[in-house]
Amino acid sequence: MKTIICAHCDLVTEYSAIESGYVAKCSRCQHPLYKGKQCNEYRIFALSLATLLVSAPAFTLSLVSVYLLGITEQTTLIQGAILLIDSAPIVAFVVLFCSIVAPTLLAACMCFSSSCMLLKKRPSLLSPVLKLTRLLTHWSMLEVYLVSFMVAVFKLNAYADLYYNSGLYFLVALLILNMSMLSEYENAHFWKYLHHE
Ligand SMILES: [Zn+2]
Repeated sequence: MKTIICAHCDLVTEYSAIESGYVAKCSRCQHPLYKGKQCNEYRIFALSLATLLVSAPAFTLSLVSVYLLGITEQTTLIQGAILLIDSAPIVAFVVLFCSIVAPTLLAACMCFSSSCMLLKKRPSLLSPVLKLTRLLTHWSMLEVYLVSFMVAVFKLNAYADLYYNSGLYFLVALLILNMSMLSEYENAHFWKYLHHE
């Protein structure tokens, strides 16, 4: 018998499969426990591959141009994090990890596990990749970066002329793909495949 523990009140409940679109709630505190969804490996593969392809221009192309006192400065996501290394190394590390390393690694892991499923392969590497995927879903915070970036842009707007560049459009596309990929993904689906269930 599979059980699940409520993260809110610690009640242990028996796990039972529910239909797609429904949510299982805790009988004591009504906290949502898990969602019933159909995980499709074709969709995960397409979304993770598109995420990886969009990542390169999103991270390397200029996001915004700032025109102030006759000087125009452009910045990319990587440059922004690197500029922070001297003044705030911990913040620079967190920005680099949560907005670049974790989302890219997460997409690569999902691309690997979904391609294994499509090719009907069960390599020994699949088990650590699934564990890593589970871990990285908590550390991929691209949306937090984008929201803080937009707040900074609105504040800067009062002091300088700002021009949005192609990198920003790729970053928004990356965020949409990343969120779609995460909402489609179901770790249990891949574990079941690995254990021939
Ligand atoms: Zn509960």
